[in-house]
Amino acid sequence: SAKLAEAQRLQRPSYSFEFFPPKTAQGVQNLYDRMDRMHGFGPSFIDITWGAGGRLATLTCEMVNTAQSAYGLETCMHLTCTDMQKSKIDEALKEAYNAGCTNILALRGDPPREKEKWEATAGGFRYAKDLVKYIRDAYGNHFDIGVAGYPEGCDDQDDPELLIEHLKQKIDAGGTFVITQMFYDADLFLEWVAKCRKAGINVPIIPGLMPIHTHAAFMRRANWTKCHVPPEWHEKLNPIKNDDAAVREVGAQLVADLCRKLLDNGIIHLHFYTMNLAQATRMVLDSLALTPTSDSPASKPLPWRQSLGLN
Ligand code: FAD
Repeated sequence: SAKLAEAQRLQRPSYSFEFFPPKTAQGVQNLYDRMDRMHGFGPSFIDITWGAGGRLATLTCEMVNTAQSAYGLETCMHLTCTDMQKSKIDEALKEAYNAGCTNILALRGDPPREKEKWEATAGGFRYAKDLVKYIRDAYGNHFDIGVAGYPEGCDDQDDPELLIEHLKQKIDAGGTFVITQMFYDADLFLEWVAKCRKAGINVPIIPGLMPIHTHAAFMRRANWTKCHVPPEWHEKLNPIKNDDAAVREVGAQLVADLCRKLLDNGIIHLHFYTMNLAQATRMVLDSLALTPTSDSPASKPLPWRQSLGLN
């Protein structure tokens, strides 16, 4: 209703942080320390990506458990169904359930490195929507189930209309929110959200935002996802590309401006791909005056479910 929309507009935006399982034991300990510190930035939830393959998958489950039960962070576990037997999916869901986790981001997964095109394993899941339905059937409404959205197309499908149709199928199967692939062009994102709404996708759409740590990483991620970078970003970042501190400073302003534009256009939750690093995300939040200070402490994480109309 108009009242709800107005209440949402006036509310302080909420935000969340994505982390991935590190490769080494020392890396895991360092990340726990960082997660604990970043808890103080006031995220309303964090999420842990699904590391395909044996050890990393186990680590995802362990990290969800530690974040949720030891650090008291509301956690969302990513889960992919590529090359995954149902028994493994059942195990992962059970562990998440037992850890008190109530959010799953249900994904298909990337094709294995040696294969160019993704192929379903016999008896396994084909699309993310099959996983969404499987989780709903097994756990009823226990989990909020997020799904991935692609404002600028994805590797194996660049027809925007078809991608929106497939996104709608994931919502119809039981998805309750969307987190998008990273992007740097606010206009493209907002146009895409309008198309999703027109197609009947009415759940919260959470923008995926990649803070800028170094120029090389920025270029690598942008090229990898093939997202459009507004020319102004290159104009500002290119001349300082060898000065990491300057890149972080200017990058934080650019990403903060992008966030402001989203917030001005009805988006109320920002999702940061932290790359397991604190500083660049912190600088964006500082620039938006969202990080807690002694004058305005974030005593409690913001109620993102409520603010997004979930549950
Ligand atoms: P789907 O929605 O199943 O789509 C896959 C392809 O199938 C698309 O081309 C789609 O158009 C097509 N398709 C869907 N339905 C149909 C249909 N009915 N008929 C024909 N074609 C159809 N990967 C990881 O390994 N671990 C992670 O933790 C992880 N986290 C991610 C988080 C986010 C926010 C995003 C955006 C991506 C993430 N990924 C992760 C990558 C993701 O697994 C890949 O992008 C994967 O290739 C697609 O997954 P999906 O869930 O979007 O698949």
